[in-house]
Formats: sequence, structure tokens, C-alpha cells
Amino acid sequence: MTNTSEKNSPSDEPTIRYINLYESEEKVYIRKISGFYQSLRRYAGLPLMLGFLLLPWFTIDSRPAVLFDLPTRQFHILWVTFGPQDGMLLAGLLIISAFALFTVTAFLGRVWCGFTCPQTVWTLMFIWAEHFCEGDRNKRIKLDNSPWTFEKIYRKTGKYFLWFVISFITGLTFVGYFYPIRELISSFFPSYDESGFLVFDSLTAIFWTLFFTLMTYMNAGFLREQVCKYMCPYARFQSVMYDSDTLAVHYDAARGETRGPRKPTEDYRAEGKGDCIDCSWCVQVCPVDIDIREGLQYECINCGLCVDACNAVMDKMGYERGLIRFTSDDELSHGKTHYLRPRVFAYIAILLILCSVFVYTVANRQPVTLDVSRDRGAQMFRVRSGQIQNVYTAKIHNMDRQSHQYEITVESDLPFKIVKYRPVLLEKGEIFSVPLRVSIPEEALDVVTKEIIITIKSTENELITAQESATFIGPSK
Ligand code: SF4
Ligand code: SF4
Repeated sequence: MTNTSEKNSPSDEPTIRYINLYESEEKVYIRKISGFYQSLRRYAGLPLMLGFLLLPWFTIDSRPAVLFDLPTRQFHILWVTFGPQDGMLLAGLLIISAFALFTVTAFLGRVWCGFTCPQTVWTLMFIWAEHFCEGDRNKRIKLDNSPWTFEKIYRKTGKYFLWFVISFITGLTFVGYFYPIRELISSFFPSYDESGFLVFDSLTAIFWTLFFTLMTYMNAGFLREQVCKYMCPYARFQSVMYDSDTLAVHYDAARGETRGPRKPTEDYRAEGKGDCIDCSWCVQVCPVDIDIREGLQYECINCGLCVDACNAVMDKMGYERGLIRFTSDDELSHGKTHYLRPRVFAYIAILLILCSVFVYTVANRQPVTLDVSRDRGAQMFRVRSGQIQNVYTAKIHNMDRQSHQYEITVESDLPFKIVKYRPVLLEKGEIFSVPLRVSIPEEALDVVTKEIIITIKSTENELITAQESATFIGPSK
């Protein structure tokens, strides 16, 4: 394949540009910038990052406050435990998250990407380590182009070490949501068995910790903007949620063009120039390496760093700020953004309805489940006392944070009863299967099959209850 190149052509012929689709990405050297949006990124990411790092360390009732316990298929989130039967709630949560993203995107563009996405927050930390060890943009370019010296080695080693520390803490914390974090840390310290061999508590947990350490290292250290540009599906469909009133980072071309350098004393307007001095700072700070002056592009994550850079330049030049700013297409072309518009109202209304249904469902969710299955061995028994009996297995899962004793009853308009039955005591989180023998006098059974309702109820709290229907089969008439 040829390299990217541009052929000179007569001015009346179109320019042909050859692009090598397999060309490797050039390394992006981001210029350090401070300003309102950079601070906002920092302070928006900080609480999320602290929350992520600290949550696995909190305990409630002597177990982690948040634990996705895959082997037992139980998700403990604060005071609530979710099981496989709560899959609908998980689906509901994902739908709510998607609608929240649609709503924010329709209103404020890709602010999720620019300010709170883990890829952005972790890349920001890695860039901080890079700046700390290797200096700002020009120093880094110079260092990369210089021969290997002692200084280059210790600066690079320092950067990679800091990246590894951040990645390892990230990997450890992430796995700490699936495996109690204190036990996870102790599994890195092996003990000796009687034969003198080293024994690790959980090699699986260690493997996943190292796996996520590597993933963090690669994503935030090397892939960076390529994740946003080529791997993240959200970047591909975000344009569906944009309209001409969506707030996004725009370059005010009417004010900035014709761009070009100028002397401080020069009357640039008289020469037909706009406010853009073509310093390229907005490009140098861009984490996805685009030039926002070429218009809105799908790669742009709305981080606002080019706004900070350009505002700093405008301040230096004594021009009004906002040549690059958060605004809408409509504002640029017609001078007005319609903040309150049907699309945003529709998204907010749907989001509120979904959230209300979700909160209601979780608040009224029973911390116990019952699953009744018929004995596969025999359909029915006829016993000497003239009774017809069916045998079932009732599987009870006590998902509450305390033990409960459960009464089991059978409900029907016919005189069914459970034979030789005692209430069952289940510890917190326990799953227990109880054989149930349901009986009825033969003369009272006037049909071949009859639906019955099996009910369990906590003796400590009658509101904790669950029901399941089952079919009772009698003799053929
Ligand atoms: S930072 Fe502002 S002035 Fe400099 S090139 Fe970008 S738009 Fe033009
Ligand atoms: S163009 Fe500006 S807002 Fe968009 S990603 Fe680059 S720096 Fe961020």
C-alpha cells in the first residue's frame, strides 16, 4: 500500500488523496492545558474513580457491600441480594442506563465520553503520569526522538512503572467486585503446604487481576483515542441522537476565518482575517487528534480541551473568548438554541417512567423465591385411607439478610392439605429444597387435574411471602 499522500493538481481539477487503510496510527502528543473544562474533567472523574476504588472495601453484615458472586449466582448490592430470577431487573437497569445516555447526548452531546467514561478518566491519569515523568509535549517529542541515554531510560521506566501501579490497582479493584477484595489480596501471598509446595488461595482470581491489569495498561497507555475512534460502539451511533440544537464543541468559523498568523499591532480585520491565529493549540491538546475547525466530527468526545486552549490564546491576544465553544448548530447559523424541544421532553418522560417502574419493582421485591416442580417418578398415589396424593419439590431461596422460618400452605377451593409437614428454617442466602406431599380425599376430587397454589410465608414477617401454582393430578374418571 502507498503512504498517505496528496497529488498536486491544477487548481481547476479536484485534488486526489490516497489513504492507506492499514497505516498505523501516529502517536499523539497531547499538550498540557489548564482551564475550566480541564478542571471539570478532573473533578467529575475524581468522585467516580474514588467510588470505584473504595466500594469493594465497605462491608455490610460482614460481607462486601457490593459483590457479584458468580459461583453462587448472587449479586449483593448494598442491602439487597439479587439472584438469577432478577434478570429482568438487570435488563431494566441497562435500558434505564441507555435512555439516560440518550437523554444526555440529545441535550449535551458526548459529555459522557469527554468527562466521565472510564476510558477518558483512566487515560487522563496515564497522561498525568506521562507529563510527570517526561514533561510536556515538546519535551516528550524530543525525548522520543533522542538516543537511549540514562535520562531517557529512567524517565521511561518511571512512566511505565506508574502506569503499572495504576493498572494493577485498577485490575485488583475490578476483580474485587467479584471476589472479596481482602481475600483477593491475601491470595497474592502464597503459603506452604505440608509437602513444602507453594499454595495460592485462588489462582483464578490472580489470573483475572493480571488480565485486567494488562487490559488497563494497554487501553489507557497505548490504545487511548483508538478505543474511542474504532472500538467503542457508542461513537458509531451517537449521531442518531444529535440534532441541530444539541450542544457540542463547535468552532465559530464566521468569526475565526480567514485564519492566519498576524502581528499584535496589525489591523487583521482590515486584511480580511478572522480571530483564528492558526496557532494549532486546539489540535495539540485534542486527545483524539482532530482539528475541530474542520467541523463536527464523530471522533470528537466533547471534552472541551480545545475550548480551554483557544480561550487561553484569545486571552493572550486580547480577543473575546469563545471562538471554540459549547454551542449548537442552530446557535451558529440562526443565533438561538432551542433547549426545550420535543425530543428532549420525550427522552426525559420515558426516563422518568422507566425509573419509577424500576424503583417500585425493587421496593416491592420479595426477598424470597419459590420454585415448585412435580415429582417425575409418579403422577399420583392412592393411599389406603382413601386419599389421593401428589408429590412435589418446593425449592425455597431466602435472599433476605436474616434467617426466616417459612410456613408452607396449599390454597384451593377443594380441601387439599400438606401431609407430615413442618415449617422450614432457612439461614440468610440459603437455598433449600423441601419434598411436599399434597393430599385430598378421593371423593372430594371431582376433576382429573386441578390447579393448586403453594404459598410460603415467613413466620417472623408475614409480608415476606411467595407463591407458585402447580397442577394436581387425580385418577382418570
Ligand atoms: S486555538 Fe484558537 S486560535 Fe489557535 S488555531 Fe485553534 S481555533 Fe485558531
Ligand atoms: S475536538 Fe476539542 S472537544 Fe473534541 S475531542 Fe478534540 S479537544 Fe476534545
